[in-house]
Amino acid sequence: MKILVAEDDLTSRRILTAVLKKWGYDPVATKDGLAAWNVLQQPDAPKFLLLDWNMPEMEGPEICRRLRLENSSNPPYIILLTGRDEKGDVVLGLDAGANDYIVKPYDPEELRARIRVGQRMLELQESLVEARDALAYQATHDPLTGVLNRRAVLGKLAEELERAKREKKRLSIGMCDIDFFKKINDTHGHQMGDKVLIDYVRCMEGQLQGSDCLGRYGGEEFLVISGPSANQDLCLYERLRKRVAALEVFGPSGPVSVTVSIGVAFATEESTVDSLLGAADEALYRAKANGRNRVVYDSDLSGHEIGGSLKPAVRACLESAGTRY
Ligand SMILES: [Mg+2]
Repeated sequence: MKILVAEDDLTSRRILTAVLKKWGYDPVATKDGLAAWNVLQQPDAPKFLLLDWNMPEMEGPEICRRLRLENSSNPPYIILLTGRDEKGDVVLGLDAGANDYIVKPYDPEELRARIRVGQRMLELQESLVEARDALAYQATHDPLTGVLNRRAVLGKLAEELERAKREKKRLSIGMCDIDFFKKINDTHGHQMGDKVLIDYVRCMEGQLQGSDCLGRYGGEEFLVISGPSANQDLCLYERLRKRVAALEVFGPSGPVSVTVSIGVAFATEESTVDSLLGAADEALYRAKANGRNRVVYDSDLSGHEIGGSLKPAVRACLESAGTRY
């Protein structure tokens, strides 16, 4: 474990550094508060700090205060080492944000024991942070494919819609449904069905860029959010359709092919999450009714889409790609 030692007295610094090394720690020694602060700004900064109180540039309690202001979920453990032993000083030091306080001259064995206490606290803190992050991930991601789950992708859509309106940039969504997915499960088994879903998602993700995002809306239905961006790639959905149609998923009974139907809707100033989803759903329904393996755009392209209407030239481009309204 790395331990930051901030101590302006050369002899004390050398003794402390030597003792820490002997105990198997990895001390990082600094000679004043500013140097200590600079070390703490590094990405792999020590999480355990032994700070002298009185130092040039920045005093120990000031470093404590600054660190506590950062309000990190994984803050360092700080022991203040000082010659000051008034009761009021102890209170000041702890209130500044130190975890512990040792008065010089210190007893080496006591210091060692207190370092072990801090180490246990840091280990506990890290395991709590890991557990919390894992729970947050599970609560927002689909366990099979790793993309956002329904709740999270709808939350993302609400955010992106707000952003599109605020920044006046184009936003589209594509409701993507794998054609005849039930037949894959019935013919090749659910394990193969899962593999198809995983490969399909990786294939789709490979086509997305920047802030585009993909989430599992339910079953074999996935939602693409594209934008907000000023010059949105209008061929995205057609490209997704083609890539999926070219995808081969290998299983014990040989390769399985899939196709996808996509219903696309563009946001207007009046759009809500529900109205956008409704429009995309309706377009998806028509893609299915018209023979599947196709992209159908919201029939209400009103000319009022955020970021400028889909002008006739753009419509022509979409039509030449074989997409419909
Ligand atoms: Mg000093």
